[in-house]
Amino acid sequence: MADAEYGRPMMTPDIAIRHVRIADGSGGSFVEGDVEIKGDRISAVGSARAARREIDGQGQVLSPGFVDVHTHDDGALLAYPGMEFKLAQGCTSVVVGNCGSSAIPPADDAILGSMNRTWSDLDGYFEAVARSGPSVNVMAQIGHNTVRRAVMGMERRAPTRAELASMRGLVEMAMEQGTSGFSTGLIYQPGRYSETEEVVELTRPCAEHGGVYNSHIRNEGELLFEAVDELVHIGAEAGCSCHISHHKAAGRANWGRVAESLDRVDAANAAGGDITLDVYPYTAGSGPMYQYFDPSDIDRTLGEAVQIAACVDFPELEGRRLVDVAAETGETIESIVHRIITAPHKERTICVHFIIDEADIETNLRHPLMMVGSDGIPNLKGRPHPRLFGTFPRVLGRYVRERGVMELPEAVRKMTSLACDRFGLVDRGRIVEGGFADLVLFDDANVIDTATYDDPKREPDGIAAVIVNGELALEAGRHTGVGSGRPLRYRRDD
Ligand SMILES: [Zn+2]
Repeated sequence: MADAEYGRPMMTPDIAIRHVRIADGSGGSFVEGDVEIKGDRISAVGSARAARREIDGQGQVLSPGFVDVHTHDDGALLAYPGMEFKLAQGCTSVVVGNCGSSAIPPADDAILGSMNRTWSDLDGYFEAVARSGPSVNVMAQIGHNTVRRAVMGMERRAPTRAELASMRGLVEMAMEQGTSGFSTGLIYQPGRYSETEEVVELTRPCAEHGGVYNSHIRNEGELLFEAVDELVHIGAEAGCSCHISHHKAAGRANWGRVAESLDRVDAANAAGGDITLDVYPYTAGSGPMYQYFDPSDIDRTLGEAVQIAACVDFPELEGRRLVDVAAETGETIESIVHRIITAPHKERTICVHFIIDEADIETNLRHPLMMVGSDGIPNLKGRPHPRLFGTFPRVLGRYVRERGVMELPEAVRKMTSLACDRFGLVDRGRIVEGGFADLVLFDDANVIDTATYDDPKREPDGIAAVIVNGELALEAGRHTGVGSGRPLRYRRDD
């Protein structure tokens, strides 16, 4: 319409981004030039015609938009459709439904809180998301914990034949409607009550649709190798591609073991497996605190590593390390932990726990099949883990520029094409003519996270512009509110 109005030829591009160093997502070296956008697609790479909107890139890097492959944004897409905390990092797509928790079926308070649920399946959830006008694209998974809760409640036993069939039916329907796969959180209730065989059975419909089995594996500490072996076994039995979420070796006694764990992944892949992974670039984890402790046998060492992010029952503890509270009040760590995990709103207390080795993060980031996932928990009250706000700029600033862990184009590949190929974001993750125009323009000399554990809600530096489906969503630090993100349905191109 605008074309007719202004009497310009119909082929006038919408946006031209000039004088950029293009990191096209392939991992190859930079190409200098311009990129042109028409509608929601990239219409030329290298040189660009005069466009309605001209952007001078000033020699900065233009790359495909980053894909946050490990998020818990299922509810956030409805509660905070502006998704500023992701967009500001250069993310243009998120994968939801991780660690076994998903918005479908809408049975999971852990992920949806008290949110009004108008849907019953993926189609309905995606309609609700589309109506909210999200600023980023979303690919969804269906979660084992959610499915198990819906069918069996919190029962600590194997499913009956009928229950297994119901759970399988839910996974089957989700895959038919377009989830990228089936996720588990085998450390959490009720997923931890499942035997391997149950998971294999539920992974079968995922495999039949060419999806990905994505797991927060059963143990990330002492029994890390056994847990990786379980995932390899599930993949082999079900004939399914697999993905290991937030790969780590938790607890000081296990630091350094990620290298051997990665060797196991490499060996399984060499033997015909298809396993990829993701990592977040921080030494602290975060999640619902009651899930990590047994009230009858509190782990003091873990308690000493805890800082409280959000706590409805004891808001005065938000942002505080338990060791500091103990030193101040004389209460033991065990007693403080016990109070928190037995309080009325215990399910809503989120903790941050410092359990990961810095060197292991670098080992992880170097692996060629390693993607980046924030694992951010979008509870904006209290003091959330800074990974929600800083993950992608932190990889680029701290690990690429400052520590030289890998070259920038390789980091971009891991955050873009590798993720899109794995999670079925078709025609995204590369700067090529005809591809979707999901793009981020950033200053590689300055890009860095600014969010800290004490002051997390800070947007990163160095992200100049973000384009989602051809629309400017962020420019010069300003969120345009255009809401051009889309729900994406899984398709595997091979
Ligand atoms: Zn997890």
